[in-house]
Formats: sequence, C-alpha cells, structure tokens
Amino acid sequence: MLAQGADLWLSPWLLGLLGLLIGSFLNVVIHRLPAMEMRDWWAFDVGDYALRDPRSWLALTGSAKSAPPKVFGPAAQAIEHTVEQLGTLSLLRPASRCPACGHRIRWYENIPVVSWLVLRGKCSACKTPISVRYPLVELLTGAMFAALAVVHGPGALTVVFCVAAALLIAMGGIDLDTTLLPEKLTIALIGLGGVAALTGWSGTTPVDALAGALLGYGVLWALGFLWAVLFRKKNAMAEGDMKMLCGLGALLGWQALPGLLLLAAGLGAVIGIAAMMFKGQGSQHRMAFGPYLALGGLVAMLAGPALAGFGSTLGEILLQP
Ligand SMILES: [Zn+2]
Repeated sequence: MLAQGADLWLSPWLLGLLGLLIGSFLNVVIHRLPAMEMRDWWAFDVGDYALRDPRSWLALTGSAKSAPPKVFGPAAQAIEHTVEQLGTLSLLRPASRCPACGHRIRWYENIPVVSWLVLRGKCSACKTPISVRYPLVELLTGAMFAALAVVHGPGALTVVFCVAAALLIAMGGIDLDTTLLPEKLTIALIGLGGVAALTGWSGTTPVDALAGALLGYGVLWALGFLWAVLFRKKNAMAEGDMKMLCGLGALLGWQALPGLLLLAAGLGAVIGIAAMMFKGQGSQHRMAFGPYLALGGLVAMLAGPALAGFGSTLGEILLQP
C-alpha cells in the first residue's frame, strides 16, 4: 500500500528528526491556537452574534416581544474594537517573536532543541529565560515518532499513530495552559480514528472503533453525571475530555480504554497530589484531565496489546454472567 522508499522514510531516525520539527510546530499550536479560538469567540460569537443578532436574544428569552437591552450595541462595538487591536493571528503569521522584548526569532534560533541549548534557554537579545517546555515538547514528539517506528515498523499504522501523537501532545499542552480542549483537535482525533478503522490502517475493526468511541464519550459523561447527582453540582467533566477519550476509543478500540483510563487517573492522582504538596495548589484550581489522557494515549499506542488484553479480559468478566 505504501510506496517504495517508505522503509527509509519511516525509519526511526528520519521519523525522529521529523518529530523534532513537528514538535517545534506543536509549540506554536499550543501557544497560538487557544488565542486564535478565543479571539474568534469574542469577536464573532459574543460581539457579532450574541450581542448584535436579534435571533440570539429571541433564543435566550424565548420571546419575540422584548428587545435586547440598549447597552448591548456599545458593548459589542467595544469588544470588536478590543479584539481588532490585538491584530490578526494564525499558526503561520506573524513570525515568532520573544514575548518579553519582541526580538524576532531567526531561523537558526529556531532549530529544535539545539537552539535552546546553544542559547542556554535565554532570548539572544534580552536574556529573558525561554521555558524548558519548548525543547521538552520537541524531544517528546521526536522520541515518540522514533519509538512508534521501532515498535510498529514502517507502515500505515506508524503514520496514523504519529499523527495521533502530534494531536495528543498539542491537546495536552493546551489543556495544561488553559483547561480548554479545542474542538478542532478533538474532532480531528475522532475523524482520524474513524478513517483509520474504515481503511484498516489502525488495525482496529470498525465495530471496535465505534464501541470505543461510544464507551470513551459515555464513560466520562456517566462519571460526571454521577458526580453531579451525588454532590448536587454541575457536571464537572468537561465535554472536551469526553471528545478526547471518544477519539482515543475510535483510534485504539474499546479494549484499550480501561487500561488507558486507569493509567491516566493514576498519573493524575500522583501528579495532582505532588503539585498540591510542593506548590500548595488547592482544589480551587480546575484540574485539567487532558494532559493525563494524552499521556495515557501515548503509552497505549506503544504498549497497545498489553493494555488491550487487560481491557478484553475485563470486558469478558463484566459481560459474562
Ligand atoms: Zn527577548
């Protein structure tokens, strides 16, 4: 199915190098995608639709008789003006600059990992420290791509898993920063899982993928629902987490989910408690579950059969009377 030469291009070394470059791009995605989405949300969803369009007022009140309050007009203008002042932002433009001094990052200052080491983790112009997260994201992506090539060999599965790994790392980073999981990424993972199951690239049968998608979404929804009923609070489980696990289930099949969830919850508990002890972070901080789901997904792609075996056995025990 893959063209000749795939063996070379999908070798661990070349994929590892490609992973370093993709990791560099993921840093941009993690940094900019939430800002892009937020600007769209403020300008279009709030400024343009919610405050300006009479239909949104009708939808809110359910009555065509009343009119939106007069303050909405100036508020919409103020919001749009404020967002406009921030300038346009995309993944490619404007070119990267030091957030502290505005120094434009040259291409040779943007070589994955190497540049950070050469610059000793500081901006070349103003010496403001550059977060160690940049090289770590690049290293993680490179190592993951290389490891996937070693474990799964040159083939479609490795390509599919590399794309999924990039999506997961971006989601984990964004959730960590903002506690948001952009729908562009979660839906992309669901789509990738679906296409890879239908084409046979992921080795997950379409039935297992569908069951995984439903179970992934459903189990987090049910946990949130249960929590809400027990403690009479709002459903604490974010929809982004449900969609993320839905995508992981579609990609890996339902069998992978019990092991993946246990791993993610265990990591979350250990790191959460450690953060509370060392940083004094209390429960008032909304905990992001996405980074742990991402880590669980990365492990599941490498240790697939072991996790899936656990899930299958659990399924047999639960489903058999
Ligand atoms: Zn600087």
